[in-house]
Amino acid sequence: MAQSYESTRNSGLKAAASEAVLKGIANDGGLFVMRDLEKKKIPIKSLPGKSYLEIAEVVLSTLLDDFPEETIKECVSKAYTDKFSSHEITPLVKVGDNYVTELFHGPTSAFKDLALSILPHLMRAAYEMNDITGEIIILTATSGDTGKAALEGFKDVKGTKIVVFYPLGGVSKVQELQMTSQEGVNTFVCAVKGNFDDAQTGVKNIFTNESFNKEMGERNKFLSSANSINIGRLVPQVAYYFYSYARLVEYNAIKTGDKVNFAVPTGNFGNILAGYYAKVMGLPVNKLICASNENNVLYDFIKTGVYDKNREFYKTISPSMDILVSSNLERLLYYLSGKDNERVREYMERLNASGRYEITGEMGEKLREDFYGGCVYMEEAQKTIRKVFEEEGYLLDTHTAVAYKSLEDYKIDTGDESVSVVLATASPFKFAGSVYEALYGRTKDDEFAIMEELSQKTGVKIPENLSEIKNKKIRHFETCAVDEMEAFVTKASNKSINEVKNG
Ligand SMILES: *Cc1c(COP(=O)(O)O)cnc(C)c1O
Repeated sequence: MAQSYESTRNSGLKAAASEAVLKGIANDGGLFVMRDLEKKKIPIKSLPGKSYLEIAEVVLSTLLDDFPEETIKECVSKAYTDKFSSHEITPLVKVGDNYVTELFHGPTSAFKDLALSILPHLMRAAYEMNDITGEIIILTATSGDTGKAALEGFKDVKGTKIVVFYPLGGVSKVQELQMTSQEGVNTFVCAVKGNFDDAQTGVKNIFTNESFNKEMGERNKFLSSANSINIGRLVPQVAYYFYSYARLVEYNAIKTGDKVNFAVPTGNFGNILAGYYAKVMGLPVNKLICASNENNVLYDFIKTGVYDKNREFYKTISPSMDILVSSNLERLLYYLSGKDNERVREYMERLNASGRYEITGEMGEKLREDFYGGCVYMEEAQKTIRKVFEEEGYLLDTHTAVAYKSLEDYKIDTGDESVSVVLATASPFKFAGSVYEALYGRTKDDEFAIMEELSQKTGVKIPENLSEIKNKKIRHFETCAVDEMEAFVTKASNKSINEVKNG
């Protein structure tokens, strides 16, 4: 099968889609990209009337071009059937003059569910296609949200185990309970005595420990990552851009062919990059509005063409956007440079060495044709939550509020009146304390009590997966030091699993 993917840093390092899913990252540290992306057009006229699952099948088959269509169908069905609280998967709702695509109806109430629900099935299929029959052991270090979404995604998936490390005392009470109450015979959770960086470094050390990996391989076990740079996480996200567009046509908000804007709360640049892919694949997109909080590296980059991570790091009320190095941006650089792998490699070397690089003027112009940078500080995000609730009766979470306000700023700045869609990346109840404070001022510390009170005062229902946690049985009790993480993985790898569902 065609090796349609290559490393952003070396066109000689090719891979088929299934190999790219297996490897996650290319051998030279580059990210896998599809060279002929612009030739992979999705016929948009055919989309209205299709379900989310049908659109996901079309998009995934196009981008994962060595997976048999039947396999993609099975993966999509296993990932999204009965796992989301809305049969539409990502419903589109009208809020004032704008539309909002709700990406938070999955098992953990945040948008990462869209990709992490399907990644395990894609990996499993990719292993089989490449004649690897052993057990896949997924290792993840989490600062809170990704770990739970990965646990839910891999739970009881045949032939896999999932091991999650989180920093002891470094995640919220709700996040900790979400993970320690995790069900599934193949799930392993451990609190690390250290901060998030310690946990992440610990995981990286395990991945790069050759003798450990060799020993695992001899036992037919393979370590892998659920990291957001894996194309198996990126590709499923392209689907909801096409789906949102199809819904807009069905609502008579636009005619097929009209251009729309998407405003995206951005951190690691994965979500918004999927929007760029959709545009390259033929979706009529005018601007992608890249919304940042105080950590506004991307805002500056879009404006000036200089990427500079040497700056103060802010902890904000939109923690999933508190990021100074957006890994997936490397894929955009590849396309902006006209697929100049050599130049991308140079930029990444500069980023590593000095934390800074500058793209050419020509690349900057191309960047600004497709993207608009928004930057919204905490106080303004809080005001937006209040205003949108008071005026429209719609409750935004702290991340979505940043995108919503960025869109309003964009409209004032440019006068663009195209129909616009805000991607809502989390349920407001996932960040209940901050949302409550934005609306009603300071309150008590018990996160569950705040959820209840927020729900009572706003009349918005708490997602079941969040309200249920406080009554759930704790199943994971272990803690370990950083230098004991490897032993924890060994122990997990040794555990035999007899009972597997969801095969
Ligand atoms: C991960 C996350 C983001 C950022 O998405 P990227 O793909 O990293 O840009 C935004 N909002 C929420 C709630 C998230 O969990």
